Amino acid sequence: MLGEEQSLILQTAERIGLHVGREYWLRCAREKTEPKLLWNELLKAGLTSAGVPLEGSPATGLLEAVLVQEGLARAGIPLLTYLTTHLSREIILRYGSRTQFERFVLPTCRRGERISFCLTEAEAGSNTWRIRTYARRRDGGYLLSGQKTFITGARESEYLLVVARTKKYEEVERKRDGLSLFVMETRSGGVGFEPLNIELYSPETQYTVYFDEVELGVDNLIGVEGRGADYLFDGLNVERTLIAACSIGLGEYVLKRAVEYAGQRVVFDRPIGSYQGLQFRMARAKAYLEAARLLNYEAAELYGRGERGGGLANMAKLVASEASMEAFEIAMQTFGGNAYDLSTDIITFYPVIRLFKTAPITNELVLSYIGHHVLGLPKSY
Ligand SMILES: Cc1cc2nc3c(=O)[nH]c(=O)nc-3n(C[C@H](O)[C@H](O)[C@H](O)COP(=O)(O)OP(=O)(O)OC[C@H]3O[C@@H](n4cnc5c(N)ncnc54)[C@H](O)[C@@H]3O)c2cc1C
Repeated sequence: MLGEEQSLILQTAERIGLHVGREYWLRCAREKTEPKLLWNELLKAGLTSAGVPLEGSPATGLLEAVLVQEGLARAGIPLLTYLTTHLSREIILRYGSRTQFERFVLPTCRRGERISFCLTEAEAGSNTWRIRTYARRRDGGYLLSGQKTFITGARESEYLLVVARTKKYEEVERKRDGLSLFVMETRSGGVGFEPLNIELYSPETQYTVYFDEVELGVDNLIGVEGRGADYLFDGLNVERTLIAACSIGLGEYVLKRAVEYAGQRVVFDRPIGSYQGLQFRMARAKAYLEAARLLNYEAAELYGRGERGGGLANMAKLVASEASMEAFEIAMQTFGGNAYDLSTDIITFYPVIRLFKTAPITNELVLSYIGHHVLGLPKSY
């Protein structure tokens, strides 16, 4: 299904992940230092521009970015800031101006800089329409105030893409009206950060981000004021495929570890991998991961052809998050008691693999989307 160049992207990303190594990733996580070596390797290989139409980039299209994300995850590296960067720049590529492309997208390609994606608010939760971060019009631009939470890599990223209201929820006729997207430098005056106490065994930190009358120009607004919902939902389909890619890659990684262990560990005079209670579950997990992978490639290609592809993107996210959880479960069972020893680095995958059933969108809301938009059933909320 993948062309030669696409296979090469997948292999290169996996090779970089293996070369930099899971050990390095965990060391950065323990020391809370940034995985600079990893970003440098991606930059050197030209993969920071995968999916962006640039001269000299390996290729263009969402599928290419999906392959980078999957390849890294196949080496045990869930690089979430790669995801937030690519989803944000997809929005800028589709709806932003040439100047925004040069100011915010090019540095991510050429210098490996990152964009953090700021949508979630504590009170609104999954109900995006209820966000309260507000950009007030004033001469020559906007003043942005409000707060976001769970924002991955916010302080470390060079740029922020922020979803805000330019008309309050109470003032709009349709709830999707009045949302606007802004992209800005992280170091803008009035932006503050508070790290959250979240353990993903990953160097990337989540933050509550505060915006206190942050001064923005009209050149920080993406597209047309009030039309942000349209742009956002395209971006969220991109996010679903990237998160599915990360799930699938991590699922493959833990399954590979389980298979290796099951081939070596002998109990009752036979390798435990010969016992069908384990073997069949590993085989099933492999089949589910492969199915999720093909579905995800199809979703990414559909988007690359200019379609929204919300149905397939949501299905891919659902199936991938469940398949990788299944792979994790059988890896836990295969390692027996050793799975609980942190040094075997198996149980350490639980928070991040499990995360993908909850973020960036919960699987309940994904099912609601499929139920309503694909099957045509009445909406529950
Ligand atoms: C580690 C981590 C990293 C994150 N990174 C980012 C980031 O970079 N940027 C960002 O913007 N956000 C980020 N998030 C936030 C994430 O997207 C949200 O946590 C997620 O969307 C769920 O929102 P919530 O936590 O408010 O859950 P809630 O909305 O409170 O939902 C709680 C439960 O209620 C269920 N529920 C709610 N409404 C319905 C309904 N109508 N029907 C059925 N069930 C329903 C949900 O499915 C869920 O099970 C991150 C979160 C985590 C944990």
